[in-house]
Amino acid sequence: MRVDDDLVEDLRQQFGSLDAALFDVGEGSPTTRLESPGRVTTEYDQLQRDTAQVAELKRRYDDQCQVCGCRLEQGDGAGYSEVHHIKPLGRSHNGPDTPSNMLVLCPNHHADFDNGMLQIDSDEYSIEHVYDDSVDGTTLYCLPDHEIATEFIEYHNTQIY
Ligand SMILES: [Zn+2]
Repeated sequence: MRVDDDLVEDLRQQFGSLDAALFDVGEGSPTTRLESPGRVTTEYDQLQRDTAQVAELKRRYDDQCQVCGCRLEQGDGAGYSEVHHIKPLGRSHNGPDTPSNMLVLCPNHHADFDNGMLQIDSDEYSIEHVYDDSVDGTTLYCLPDHEIATEFIEYHNTQIY
């Protein structure tokens, strides 16, 4: 049977290896019992920690967009923002899930980043926007203790912009 490459890759990522995906027979296999719980725990911890990092970064910016400064609210007065990964997390990009690769943005500027409609100068943090003059030429707002890695900005500018 032929299997789609994407499916194989998905199985690899999910189970660690093709063998684990194909031969993970649970109770019957001592190897599986020894390896699986540790792996599952690790992935769970990773997810928990990264979700906390995203929430913490949004809190530090009080949900204000680093590009335009706007702060959306939800019905209860709480802020609403989105976290963009400058070097995307997904396959082929494989960016890291760390604050140095994150920006707090409004949904519009999140979309503009995803669509490559703006780029950031990695030294000056000046913004070049393709079509929005109100943003073009302004400076990305960054908290003093939020260090963004130059390599991720360069990646965005060369691979996505
Ligand atoms: Zn914005």
